[in-house]
Amino acid sequence: MNNESNKTIYTCPMHPDVKQDAPGRCPKCGMNLVAVDAGTTESGHAHKSSGGCC
Ligand SMILES: [Zn+2]
Repeated sequence: MNNESNKTIYTCPMHPDVKQDAPGRCPKCGMNLVAVDAGTTESGHAHKSSGGCC
């Protein structure tokens, strides 16, 4: 069971559709791909906590 939460994805800032697991250049525009953390997704926790925390 290899979870993908600890995986770095490289994408093009101009073309979010371009994704790969290694640094390189965008095949569409030739820009250097930037690394994004797959663990920084916003769907990690819910902000709608109606409970009384503290
Ligand atoms: Zn691009």
